[in-house]
Amino acid sequence: IPGIKRILITGGCGFIGSALVRHLMHSTACHVLNIDKLTYAANPEAVKDAADSARYQHAVADICDRSKIKTLISRFQPDAILHLAAESHVDRSISSPAVFMQTNIIGTYSLLEEALAYWQELSESRQSRFKFIHISTDEVFGDLETDDSAFDESSPYLPSSPYSASKASSDHLARAWHRTYRLPVIVTNCSNNYGPYQHHEKLIPHMTMCALKEQPLPIYGNGKNIRDWLFVDDYVDALTSVLRDGVAGETYCIGGNNELTNLELVNTLCAELDILRPRVKGRYIDLLEFVEDRAGHDKRYAINSQKITSQLGWRPSHNFREGLNKTLCWLLEQYSEPFNRANSHFCTSGEGSEVK
Ligand code: NAD
Repeated sequence: IPGIKRILITGGCGFIGSALVRHLMHSTACHVLNIDKLTYAANPEAVKDAADSARYQHAVADICDRSKIKTLISRFQPDAILHLAAESHVDRSISSPAVFMQTNIIGTYSLLEEALAYWQELSESRQSRFKFIHISTDEVFGDLETDDSAFDESSPYLPSSPYSASKASSDHLARAWHRTYRLPVIVTNCSNNYGPYQHHEKLIPHMTMCALKEQPLPIYGNGKNIRDWLFVDDYVDALTSVLRDGVAGETYCIGGNNELTNLELVNTLCAELDILRPRVKGRYIDLLEFVEDRAGHDKRYAINSQKITSQLGWRPSHNFREGLNKTLCWLLEQYSEPFNRANSHFCTSGEGSEVK
């Protein structure tokens, strides 16, 4: 990545952050500092290969701890900061919102302040190359009707849950630090990611684990809520494009072009599992159970990624079936029960056609 050799990532032991760390360590010569508090959502295993490299450091720190963050930034001297650390689970934000406000709002504010103090001391040429990329969600826009509309960079903010309200708040702070202080901030608003190393509380790993344990597959309401799904490696590609060519002060909306109702998703997931690891009796979809809807449940999210595609040349490269197959292969390997690799169309780690 021209001009960017030292990258500070917050939340690099989380689902998306760890995929980014693995990519940067594997495919670039960059030095990476990962600041992660190691909450329940962190999985240090996901970056264990990086840990062997002299180019990688992990600091266990809270982004709200300004003096620690100040020291870490000034010692590491980053060319870019990618801010992913957050509390990220909507259901948890409904039952325990306080930590969401603390990390997502106060934590982002603290990081912006320390990034600004550091940036102001840089030479003019390093100042002009520096980027602060704030990673956010499409949930800040609220929800859409079931028509053809989609969110884009000009969509108004209308968050529904404590999680999305806290992320909306952090987006406003990030933009204000650009507008007011000229800190070179870029915001990305992205749809639902899925892939290996996602925490088991999230929809795809949760449904898969329930299915493998022969437990009911709980689906909220009537299952007709629509989400757009983006394979995590495609998102990492998008973030790399933004790091390379993104313009300070801009926002990029990033989606997977994979809109599915939750019911369609669970049907597809069950059909794939039926092939990969058939049940002894019956089909996985027989385990489906409708449960009471989530409070304030958004109806539909969809993203128009036209801007990042036309300006930065990014587009997703995985279709849903391919990404899902890779994810299920990974989950089945974690579950370490025999499964039918011969039927795993896209699994890269599988050998030949043996049944493990
Ligand atoms: P995650 O919950 O898997 O990981 C979050 C990481 O942040 C964890 O490793 C955790 O230990 C760390 N963390 C939490 N609080 C911290 C604090 N106070 N200080 C330092 N580290 C802290 O999250 P994810 O799914 O990887 O999401 C990463 C970012 O992307 C978040 O900002 C989220 O809002 C955003 N996002 C996620 C999705 C998605 O589908 N997962 C979609 C769009 C945007």
